[in-house]
Amino acid sequence: MQGLMMNRPLSVIEILRFASEIHSDGEIVSVRTEGDLHRQTYRETYARAGQVAHALGALGIQHGDRVATLAWNGYRHFELYYAISGYGAVCHTINPRLSAEQMIYILNHADDGVLFVDTTFVPIIEALKDQLPKGLRLVVMTDAAHMPDSPLDLLCYEDLLAPHDTTYDWPDLPEETAAGLCYTSGTTGNPKGSLYSHRSTVLHALFVAVTVPLSLREGARLLPVVPMFHVNSWGMPYAAPIVGASMIMPGGRLDGPSLYDLMETEKVTASWGVPTVWLGLRAEIEARGKPPSALEQVVIGGSAAPRSMIEFFETAGIDVCHAWGMTEMSPVGTSAQVPVAKADAPFEERMDLKSLQGRRMFGVDLKIVGEDGTRLPQDGKAVGELYVRGNAVISGYFNNDDATKAAVDAEGWFGTGDVASISPDGYLSIQDRSKDLIKSGGEWISSIDLENIAMAHPDVANCAVIAIAHPKWDERPVLVVVPKEGCQPSLDEFHDMMSDHFAKWQLPDDVLYVDALPLTATGKVSKLTLRKQFADYVLPDVG
Ligand code: AMP
Repeated sequence: MQGLMMNRPLSVIEILRFASEIHSDGEIVSVRTEGDLHRQTYRETYARAGQVAHALGALGIQHGDRVATLAWNGYRHFELYYAISGYGAVCHTINPRLSAEQMIYILNHADDGVLFVDTTFVPIIEALKDQLPKGLRLVVMTDAAHMPDSPLDLLCYEDLLAPHDTTYDWPDLPEETAAGLCYTSGTTGNPKGSLYSHRSTVLHALFVAVTVPLSLREGARLLPVVPMFHVNSWGMPYAAPIVGASMIMPGGRLDGPSLYDLMETEKVTASWGVPTVWLGLRAEIEARGKPPSALEQVVIGGSAAPRSMIEFFETAGIDVCHAWGMTEMSPVGTSAQVPVAKADAPFEERMDLKSLQGRRMFGVDLKIVGEDGTRLPQDGKAVGELYVRGNAVISGYFNNDDATKAAVDAEGWFGTGDVASISPDGYLSIQDRSKDLIKSGGEWISSIDLENIAMAHPDVANCAVIAIAHPKWDERPVLVVVPKEGCQPSLDEFHDMMSDHFAKWQLPDDVLYVDALPLTATGKVSKLTLRKQFADYVLPDVG
């Protein structure tokens, strides 16, 4: 028997319409490329989204067309998110840190009709001008006074909006209609597109809002360090207007001192980002001797949050929510927070929980699978490839059947490429990306676990563990360290720290010092580049 309820489609623009009425004074504060700080309310944002939709019509954009953005976090990017999806087109966010080759690939693969670009990134497009899709229109996200001189035929965003009415008759779209497109910056092969629907986007926003309530509540002031060009800023631009949180957009100023200052002047209550950005904020908090005054929570995800980083923020009185997810999951999958029943547990015990990747969010299912494809027990011991399924998980890649076949199993679960265990009470522990695990003498060593301990050494600014080929053991772990200025922590010191937690054969064979670690386009340490960098390195017991 069918239920007798209305079947109103879930729709992205409904989020902004709701915020414009119910949280009308909620703000978007943006560090602009023009150099100043700009403020506008959700009510004003909804009105401007209406103007953008008219402008898309004037540009000849049709339902289903892809409309790309290449931009920092800011109010114009936010307007575009809503206007493009609400119009019935697909908002394709592009990561400006991709290689030229990858960017050309995805612009052409997505077949974008218009590209909205921040002034900062115009030079990137100029450099690619001969390889852009035919007919691609370029709109610079600024006003007439700040338009760059360029050999390209550029339209001006504010001029495009100005003639149009602020009210727009948004179309009723089936909720399965595509709303957003984001390509993974895969380390191998061509990038692959995750095509989000209105339904998945709204549900993901609701799931995230109930999962991280300290960040996402009415009156909160949320600073997304994670870019809007990387998996929709982990869903914040959709969740914040639902709950009535304001958004403080840092633009391109993501260094520790700039973030600290913005958090202080704008009384930011919560901020989300990858571990590498928190290294900068941590150094600034140490230099100033106190954290930003209103900051209550940081969400750390995208790579494993080192335990020493979690402990640092928690000791400074800032709650840490460690989260795991991926582009293909919209992206949030799990979060590590301390349940109320354990709120009074000793500090060490609470940090043990937060160092894991946490428990599944509502709407997400997890399973681990052995090499032969059979499901493994969730006993905290068995380690296998992690598969997921849920309302905001992709069912396939955009126009890429081969990649879809390789990623989705016979029961429709999506293979994450992560290797993990799950405890009986549901705590996920990511051991590694499958290609980053180190296999020594037939046994696996988790690079993440070794890094976690090494990061706690006071002389270490950053580090990564990679596999180096070994004639007898196949692979051995080597620790690559960015030391703090004037320091050179020795291998023995690391062994002393690690030997309580690891068997002797799991300890790194050597420590190598570098000035900086290579980062991927999404700000994670690129192990692939590091492995290439040290391809000719010979282990001490081999050379
Ligand atoms: P992306 O699609 O770029 O967001 O990358 C997703 C991948 O990042 C995941 O499959 C994991 O390998 C890694 N990742 C994300 N969050 C975490 C975390 N908290 N701990 C360990 N790895 C993570």
